Amino acid sequence: MNATSIFYLIIGILVVDFLLERFLGLLNYTWYSKAIPKELSDVYEPKEYKKSQEYKKINFRFSLISSTLSFLVIILFLHFKGFALVDQIARGFATDQILVALLFFGIIMLASELASLPFSIYSTFVIEEQFGFNTTTLKTFILDKIKSYILTALLGGGILSLIILCYNWAGAHFWWYVWVLILMTSLFMNMFYAKLFVPIFNKQTPLEEGDLKNKISEYAASVGFHINKVFVIDGSKRSTKANAYFSGFGSEKRITLYDTLIEQLTEEEIVAVLAHEVGHYKRNHIIYNLILGTLTTGFTLWLFSLVVNNSLLSQALGVSIPSFHIGLVAFGLLYAPISRLTGIVMNLLSRKFEYQADYYAKATYKKEPLISGLKALSKTSLSNLTPHPAYIWFHYSHPSLQQRITAMNSTTVY
Ligand SMILES: [Zn+2]
Repeated sequence: MNATSIFYLIIGILVVDFLLERFLGLLNYTWYSKAIPKELSDVYEPKEYKKSQEYKKINFRFSLISSTLSFLVIILFLHFKGFALVDQIARGFATDQILVALLFFGIIMLASELASLPFSIYSTFVIEEQFGFNTTTLKTFILDKIKSYILTALLGGGILSLIILCYNWAGAHFWWYVWVLILMTSLFMNMFYAKLFVPIFNKQTPLEEGDLKNKISEYAASVGFHINKVFVIDGSKRSTKANAYFSGFGSEKRITLYDTLIEQLTEEEIVAVLAHEVGHYKRNHIIYNLILGTLTTGFTLWLFSLVVNNSLLSQALGVSIPSFHIGLVAFGLLYAPISRLTGIVMNLLSRKFEYQADYYAKATYKKEPLISGLKALSKTSLSNLTPHPAYIWFHYSHPSLQQRITAMNSTTVY
């Protein structure tokens, strides 16, 4: 294989990926106007349903335009040897390998952020605003952006520097060390996510004493689940959409409820959503995900270590001086089909876990409040009641609402 054929392979991968996504989107679009399944007939009032149809269509058109533009930009960038140009610019400012790599990725990320900023502004302040979801003020929006740039620069830059240091020190065996490094970082992030990262973006307060707290404690005790940390987060600062999640393990494990969830759901429904989250924990889903994620990372790094020294990768992108960072970019582009496969497998597994967590909530609490709670969440987020099965298969980490309700109403044990 020579550099030119690798170049065309990369273009081919990008084209196939783009066409596949547009095809799936279009399939899904044709199902927007499908009749509502009868078990979901009470989710929306007719007027609200019309509004949800409108929301889906606007988002479909928006993603069609933004993804087509970004696809064209990437193809043109590759055609005009954009990576070689950025590499040259970075080398004009530094000679140290790590500094060049940091500058290189810094420039690429800055450019892609500038290009995507208008879309992000339009999505938040025009589309989400129009449908009454947006509660983000301009100040929050700007502060969020600045905070995430600083976090990305510190964490991303730090990890990239460490990886190149490992590579320089251990040669082709570097992937072992990087694997351990990434595993430790992700364990650390998982453990202290709520303590270190959430406060940067949100305010979280312990759930106040009262009816809801008592109901939660009562349920937790009934399934032998020790949790003394239930927090409420000010999700309403950005959007009316509601959520709940589980994070950390051991002494750091906690359940976080959005304030919007408490507003929109009844106490019984909240306990049922919580029972679903406890189900994930009790069925070891968090551990399985961590193991699978670790294996995938190891496999990716090992594959990367096989080609990182190959100068064909740099040549394929039109760069004359081979380097770790150019190898990384080319590998990232070539890896897309494999990551799509692993993504499909992860989604399959995740949907299976969702059925199990729903079943756990049904078996240890009640199915009715979970069903009505999920319906309320679907309604307030104007979610799609009739997704196309192919679209679900590729993209959904959760089964559709209809699939979940059908499963809970069946006698199947998950
Ligand atoms: Zn779940």
